[in-house]
Amino acid sequence: MTETAFPGAAEAASSRARAEIDLAAVRANVRSLRAHAPGAALMAVVKADGYGHGAVPCARAALAAGATWLGTATPQEALALRAAGLTGRIMCWLWTPGGPWRQAIEADLDVAVGGMWALREAVAAAREAGTPARVQLKADTGLGRGGCQPADWPELVREARRAEDEGLLRITGLWSHFACADEPNHPSIAAQLTRFREMVAYAEERGARPEVRHIANSPAVLTVPDSHFDLVRTGVSLYGISPSPALGTPADFGLRPAMTLSASLALVKHVPGGHGVSYGHHYVTPGETTLGLVPLGYADGIPRHASGTAPVLVDGKWRTIAGRVAMDQFVVDLGGGEPPAGARAVLFGPGDDGEPTAEDWAQAAGTIAYEIVTRIGTRVPRVYVNQDVNEQLQG
Ligand SMILES: *Cc1c(COP(=O)(O)O)cnc(C)c1O
Repeated sequence: MTETAFPGAAEAASSRARAEIDLAAVRANVRSLRAHAPGAALMAVVKADGYGHGAVPCARAALAAGATWLGTATPQEALALRAAGLTGRIMCWLWTPGGPWRQAIEADLDVAVGGMWALREAVAAAREAGTPARVQLKADTGLGRGGCQPADWPELVREARRAEDEGLLRITGLWSHFACADEPNHPSIAAQLTRFREMVAYAEERGARPEVRHIANSPAVLTVPDSHFDLVRTGVSLYGISPSPALGTPADFGLRPAMTLSASLALVKHVPGGHGVSYGHHYVTPGETTLGLVPLGYADGIPRHASGTAPVLVDGKWRTIAGRVAMDQFVVDLGGGEPPAGARAVLFGPGDDGEPTAEDWAQAAGTIAYEIVTRIGTRVPRVYVNQDVNEQLQG
């Protein structure tokens, strides 16, 4: 980690660039999301290092504001949360054969099981550990990704119930995931809900007594009240990002983006007209102008597809990336403006101070805002603001 490489390394790193994470925004987003789904418990999804925001600080902030579950993709991510001292329910869902089932059981994690191989490994680990596994059976209600197909559900339920009767596991949850919840009124939403109710009913008729039934991700929490059941799994919205511009802006849902990505200009210089800029000379100065050098590149998660298109706020104005994004840096045309070296360039943030948002970057780079924040690399230090004393003391 650059932070511990030499004395003063953290300050030096954040003088180049920083991702400021507003934990008050995370807490406020949890409260807004709970108001959208008042009858359900809330799982804070902190996979992929909290969508790039930092899993542990965001998990603490979410729990402080009323989340009661944490969710991750991999078991390693969930075990890391336990190692950081986070207590309470933690669920992880992306398993491969030979995964750390026993460690997961001993760390009291809820583990997703979507097929027979996973059930067998969970049961074997529970036998070795001498502790029942907390198993959440995953139904593929139409996404066509993870989870158990309806045709295979009877066998999975039967074998899980048999292991439950032997005291080797507890079926703590029945759950699924949407394919198109971010497309308003997409017909698959209602079809998946119907299928989910049928698969839940089947398991319950055969004796499953899940604590939680859940299918809703952020877009479903915000726009499909029928999908809330006992628990909602919120990821991107927790960080204040709308799941899709087609659904609304963050403000429309009472959300506030938590991440502000900024850098200090490494250089400002005068150049003549007709000067090529950055690799390949895809930008040529239209006349005499000034250029600013922004010390962030694709190694930091700045999409190369943003070359020539994405906006950056410098010296009170939106500038466009001039030419290609390189590994460590890119250039903006300052149009004759002369901010000093060290002036702040804001790539994206909540948008309140005129800066672009992650959504603006997503549109410029032809992707989704989820990817813009999640791909910010480890070379960019996260700087936490509005951290509660209580969150610091926990763990
Ligand atoms: C990532 C993920 C979520 C969270 O999705 P958002 O759209 O970010 O809220 C929920 N459930 C599962 C299974 C996931 O993989």
